[in-house]
Amino acid sequence: MIPLRLKIETDATEPYVVRLRSFEGFSEDAREAGSFDAVLDHAIGESAVFSGAGTTLRVFGIDPSDVNGDVLFVVPRRGTAHRLIRANSRHNTLLVTERCDQLCLMCSQPPKKQHVDMFPFFQTAVLLSPKNATIGLSGGEPTLFKSDLLGFLERMLSARPDVNFHVLTNAQHFDRDDLDKLLRLDLNRVLWGVPVYSSDPDIHDRIVAKPGAFDQVREGLSLLCEVGAKIELRTVLMKPNAPGLPDLARLVTTALPFVDKWAIMQLENIGYGRQNWDSLFFDSSKDFDVVGKALDLAISRGIDAMLYNFPLCTLPADYRALAPSTISDWKRTYVSECTGCGLRDACGGFFEWHPKAHGYERFGVA
Ligand code: SF4
Repeated sequence: MIPLRLKIETDATEPYVVRLRSFEGFSEDAREAGSFDAVLDHAIGESAVFSGAGTTLRVFGIDPSDVNGDVLFVVPRRGTAHRLIRANSRHNTLLVTERCDQLCLMCSQPPKKQHVDMFPFFQTAVLLSPKNATIGLSGGEPTLFKSDLLGFLERMLSARPDVNFHVLTNAQHFDRDDLDKLLRLDLNRVLWGVPVYSSDPDIHDRIVAKPGAFDQVREGLSLLCEVGAKIELRTVLMKPNAPGLPDLARLVTTALPFVDKWAIMQLENIGYGRQNWDSLFFDSSKDFDVVGKALDLAISRGIDAMLYNFPLCTLPADYRALAPSTISDWKRTYVSECTGCGLRDACGGFFEWHPKAHGYERFGVA
């Protein structure tokens, strides 16, 4: 797994954001470094020393060429640095908060009470990010800090016209007072990922453990539609909602036809998803019918429906083109059966933490 947290030593005392520049021996490049850049001074064994941004930083366990352009959040007192932006990755997500107002049965990152405002650090990180980056904002529930979030988006969209954002939100905290703020954003460059699990309000509310959530998300989606926001509906496939997937497809095509995308997603075996695995994991390789029906219905009515996190060989061949490789590079793995598989280049494989006994009855390419 690609490490997102690195061991460091620094002479700084307060947390700071820095971009690493690995130009050992190339003083001209070093002269171009900005005030938030730390340039490689030397590497010894498994550590590399960077100078700049007013500090010296030793980073352990990395090859300097692998971190060139990465943006780190350095926490001196803990001796750690978080790779907020990896320059060579398409999968950079900033965690806005660990607080959440839901308690989803399959939550991969169970909520915590404490919150630290990271927006000032994220602002620097976005300004230092590579050209044309797409940056994820997630939680917890980022819109619990709606005013900060919308202000941050407005500033960053203006300061970096090349950068796009993908915001994961339950969309339940928007109200009409937010319309002006939303309309000030360049909404073509923000995709709002909004989970909807069922067309049955009771099932949706039970999955997210919040009474009234279904009605609230419908209102939030209406507001996002009103301002012309780009929306990616997200539905994690599980035993409780799998039978109703065709009904959800009907709801999407009739009541939510304005969405840009509908992603049906396989379950992640971490957090509550791991605790509740046996009661939640739906073997779509064995019972693909409900998924196929939902996809056919949605696509026939013009919805861009996709499958996320499905190993390609677990899908009927006709549906594989709908399943791009979506698992982030740092948490993607393959199992022993994948060796020599002809689909591997296009296949997103598994989450690193998926059980070795993967649970798919139909697996591998015949
Ligand atoms: S065998 Fe592995 S690489 Fe091949 S399609 Fe299945 S999961 Fe993907």
